[in-house]
Amino acid sequence: MKKRIFVFFTFILFGVFLFCGAEVSASALGESGSDGVELPVIMYHAVVPDKYSADAYTVKISDFISDLEYIRQSGYTTVLPRDLIAYVRGERDLPEKPIMLTFDDGFCGVKDLAMPELIKRNQCAAVAVVGRYLRDENERKVVYGYLSLDECKQMQDGGAIEIISHSYDLHKLKPRKGACRLWRETDETYAEFLKNDTAKLQAELDKIGIRPTAYAYPFGAFDKTSNAVLRECGYSLTLTCREKINVITRDEECLFSLGRFNRHGRKKFPV
Ligand SMILES: [Zn+2]
Repeated sequence: MKKRIFVFFTFILFGVFLFCGAEVSASALGESGSDGVELPVIMYHAVVPDKYSADAYTVKISDFISDLEYIRQSGYTTVLPRDLIAYVRGERDLPEKPIMLTFDDGFCGVKDLAMPELIKRNQCAAVAVVGRYLRDENERKVVYGYLSLDECKQMQDGGAIEIISHSYDLHKLKPRKGACRLWRETDETYAEFLKNDTAKLQAELDKIGIRPTAYAYPFGAFDKTSNAVLRECGYSLTLTCREKINVITRDEECLFSLGRFNRHGRKKFPV
C-alpha cells in the first residue's frame, strides 16, 4: 500500500514539474504574450458642453475629461484600429495595457470638445462616421450636428483621430436593423448589398483621401457573413456592441467582431 502511495505522489510531482517547466520555457522563448493582450473598447456617441443634459448616448465634456484622466491614472494607453492591425500583422508591439476609445455617428462635439482634450493628453480615439450624415459645412449645427467631410479630414490629419466606417446608410432600423440580412436575401445578394453600401461611403471618403480599415456595425447588428464581406472590401477590424473585454493575439481573425462597452452619460465610469 505504501508503495502505491509513493508511486502516486511521484506521478503527481512529475506532472507539476512538467507543467511548471512548460511555463518557464514558454516565457523564456518570449511567448509570454502568446495568450494575447486584453483590450477594453469604450463606445461613446455625442459629447456636449456641461450645460446640456447627458443620457445613454451623450456624455458631458467634464465627464469625458475625467474618463481620460482615469484611463491614464489606471495605466492604460489609448490605441487606434491601425495600431491593432499593425500588431496582429507583427509590424509593431502594443502598450502593456491598451484601451481603445470609439465615437459613433460622427457628431460635431467630438471635434469641437473631445478632440482638443485628447490632443492635450497625447491620447487618441476612432470616430465612426455615417456617410449619409456627413454634412455640408454650411449646414453645420452646434453640438448635435454632424461632421462635414472636410472636418473628417482635419481630424484624421491631426493624428489623434482615426476615421472609421459606420456604414453609408445602414444607421436605421427599417427595412433592416443595421447590417442585418433580410430573410429573402441569399449569401450573394446580401454580400452585394453590403458591398454597395460600403462602396458609397468609400466614394465620399475618397474625396478627402481616407480609406478606413475598421467598421463599427450600426446598433451592433450584423449577419454571420458580414465580416467576410467587409474583409473582401478591405476591412481588417469590425466592432459590435457586445459588452466584453477582447483578447488580441497575432491572429488577424481576433480583430473581427470586437466587443465594446457603452459609456452611459449618467453612469459612473468605468462602465
Ligand atoms: Zn451609431
